[in-house]
Amino acid sequence: MGNHTMFQYFEWYLENDGQHWKRLKEDAKELADIGITALWIPPAYKAIAQGDVGYATYDLYDLGEFDQKGTVRTKYGTKEELKEAIKELHRHKIQVYLDAVLNHKAGADKTERFMAEEVDSENRMDVLTEPYEIEGWTSFLFPGRGDKYSDFKWNWCHFTGTDINVDTGKNAIYRIIGEHKFWSDEVDKEFGNYDYLMFADIDYEHPEVYNEIIKWGAWIVSELELDGFRLDAIKHIKRSFIMDFLTKVREAANKEDLYVVAEYWVNDIMALQETLESIDHGIDLFDVALHYKFHEAAKAGKDYDLSKIFQDTLVEKNPIHAVTFVDNHDSQLGQSLESWVEDWFKPLAYGMILLWKDGYPCVFYGDYYGIGGENPLDGKKDILDKLLYIRKHYAYGDQTEYLDHPNVIGWVRNGDLEFEDSGCAVLISNGDDGDKLMHVGEEREGEVWVDYLRGIEEEVIIGEDGCGLFKVKGGSISVWIKKS
Ligand code: CA
Repeated sequence: MGNHTMFQYFEWYLENDGQHWKRLKEDAKELADIGITALWIPPAYKAIAQGDVGYATYDLYDLGEFDQKGTVRTKYGTKEELKEAIKELHRHKIQVYLDAVLNHKAGADKTERFMAEEVDSENRMDVLTEPYEIEGWTSFLFPGRGDKYSDFKWNWCHFTGTDINVDTGKNAIYRIIGEHKFWSDEVDKEFGNYDYLMFADIDYEHPEVYNEIIKWGAWIVSELELDGFRLDAIKHIKRSFIMDFLTKVREAANKEDLYVVAEYWVNDIMALQETLESIDHGIDLFDVALHYKFHEAAKAGKDYDLSKIFQDTLVEKNPIHAVTFVDNHDSQLGQSLESWVEDWFKPLAYGMILLWKDGYPCVFYGDYYGIGGENPLDGKKDILDKLLYIRKHYAYGDQTEYLDHPNVIGWVRNGDLEFEDSGCAVLISNGDDGDKLMHVGEEREGEVWVDYLRGIEEEVIIGEDGCGLFKVKGGSISVWIKKS
């Protein structure tokens, strides 16, 4: 079986032109050709406004079908266009993972009055006021959709907190007071309790909510023929609900192999591992720890010790559950988790996720096609296509690692008989020009190897000891394969 590669098919600053699903349909064949086997699509349902990226989610059942929030289509297009794109992706054997935003809801239809208390945003367990009545945006009636697909209407009882009191116009974190209602204690402990993130925070202790979201999960998997989910912001969602959601949706949709990768954004390997354990290793997690290593390495230049770059990352500790990535829609410039990996380091970082044996790598739209908006950036399609080509055809077999120098690291993939002439030798430098003697196998004596990325023009002839002296230019990556 060939290597699997995920692609995040959106970035934050895409134009609000309603053409994204159409573009996706057109790109499906090319994505398959370059070796993409699964696609992560953005939140595809109606948000607070047409131009919203999708994380200010209004109606999970409106996939660009109903006239709500002043628009039928979403930022990305209509439901029909989305379905056509998915059909085309499936035709090309690309799986589809939908971004599921289950922590909060935004853009309520009406306000309601209820009791609440203000809490300290730095410590949400610290109460700042006596309980008092506030007017908050918590009534979701979906007038444009009515009862189609679900007749569930949301009110303040279904939320734990909100962020504005319409009475006074004051912004704060308001904890809603009600029977059996409190922040979940199965969430991240930052800020005392990190259940509340933004907008109206969904209360998973409420049985109606619990059932409704599981019902939605099963509905959307069959409605869109999804192969998986990317779960947004699970740091802020009751852990046991996530477990139940997976089990019950997999069961209801009759898809035991429904894939799930979750976003738990913390640069702390222990916290990532604990999260995996708490969900019984039933999901994958993005390797946020590795992302921050890339970010730091790019900033530090040759002062960064490359030999330690995989240390204390998820791909090192829990390789089977690690989705490796370089950047995403949140880490890009101007966004909430900004931690952009600088340009010069991008090819090196992509080499480390695409050609490394472990991890399920995810390529970011913004890195591949470029980034729009006021500060546009060019995509790196040329170099990424080359690395993807190597991943698809050569990066197979066991791995021998040469993480033995602070500025020049390398590894060899020994190849697999299933893929003719496969195997490659990778060399990365964050400092000066470098070289390294690496063992590719005695049976390869006399073979001529070349740098597929063409940073180095000279050829390497494998010696009788099975080794080659491979070279790399300073601050770059070279990938050596057998000359064809
Ligand atoms: Ca929450």
